[in-house]
Amino acid sequence: KSKDNILPPLSSSKPKLQIYPQPLTSLTQLRTRYGISKRLAENIAYQGYKLPTEVQLAALPLLMGESGRSREQHKDIDLLAVAPTGSGKTLAFLIPVLDTLFKDKKMDQETEPQAIIVAPTRELANQIVNEGRKLVENTGIRISLVRKGMSVGKRDVDVLDLRGERDEDAESSSDDGEQSSAQKASKVQKPGYVVKSHVLVSTPLTLLHAIENLDGTTTSLPSVRFLVLDEADVLLDPLFRDQTLSIWNACSNPDLRTSLWSATMGSSIESLALEHILKNRKESTNTASI
Ligand code: ADP
Ligand code: MG
Repeated sequence: KSKDNILPPLSSSKPKLQIYPQPLTSLTQLRTRYGISKRLAENIAYQGYKLPTEVQLAALPLLMGESGRSREQHKDIDLLAVAPTGSGKTLAFLIPVLDTLFKDKKMDQETEPQAIIVAPTRELANQIVNEGRKLVENTGIRISLVRKGMSVGKRDVDVLDLRGERDEDAESSSDDGEQSSAQKASKVQKPGYVVKSHVLVSTPLTLLHAIENLDGTTTSLPSVRFLVLDEADVLLDPLFRDQTLSIWNACSNPDLRTSLWSATMGSSIESLALEHILKNRKESTNTASI
C-alpha cells in the first residue's frame, strides 16, 4: 500500500502546524486578545465557563477581531461550523453577536432587530433564548423568542411597544400554559404586536409569518446584521429549505454576517457550501470541522 500513499513522508523534525487564526486556549482570551466587553466577559465567567470547547476555540477566533475575512458580497457565509451535539455551539455563535451589539452602544435607541437566530424547533429556540439571557445580563441587549402572532420589522400597523415586558417570553417550561387566554389574545394575537428586541430567536415558519405582510409580501429586514442558522443541516433540508432561504433573502443588509452551525455535515449543507464556494470561485467560507 505504501506506494499509493498520498501522504507526504514523515519528516524527522516536528511538522509545523499553521493554524490561523490562533485557537483560543482560555475564554479569558476573549477579553485579552479580542477585547470583548468587560460585562460580557464577566457574564461568561459567571456561568463557570473557563476553557473553550473545541468548536469554541476554533470558531471564536474566526468570528472575532481582525481575522474576520473581507467580504466579497452579500449572502456570503462567514462560517460553517460542524461539531457534535453538546459541544457548546450556542455560546460560540452568541458571543461574537452580543459583543458587537453591546459595543455599538446604541442599544437604548435601537428598536429594530439586529440579529436573527433560526433554529428548527421551538424548544431549541427557547434554549438559545435562555442561554442568551444569561449572557446579556446588565448589557441592555434584549433577546426574545418570536412567537406565533408576533410581527417583526417595520409595518403599516399600530406598533405596540412591549419593551417593558421582556420577561413575558422568558420561559422555563416549553409551553405557555400559565398565560390566560385573555392575556394571549391581548398580547399575542393582536395584530401589530411588534417584538422590540435586538436579538430574535425563532423557528423558520414563525419568523416567516412574523415578517409577512397582509398582501403576502415579505418585509425586508435591513437592520439585521447577523443571521445565525442553528442546526443548519435541518434548516436546509427539503422540509425547511424554502422557509430558511426566504428568511435569508429578507435579511437585506449588505453587511449581513451569516454563520451556519450543525452537528452533522448533512448533504443539504454540503451542497449549499459547495454551491456557495463555486459561485464565488474561490474559497470564501471558513469551515471549522471538529
Ligand atoms: P450544542 O449546541 O453544540 O449541542 P450547547 O451549546 O447546547 O451545545 O452546549 C451544551 C452545554 O455545554 C450547555 O449546557 C452549555 O452551557 C455548556 N457549555 C458551553 N460552553 C461551555 C464551556 N466553554 N465550558 C463548559 N460548559 C460549556
Ligand atoms: Mg445547539
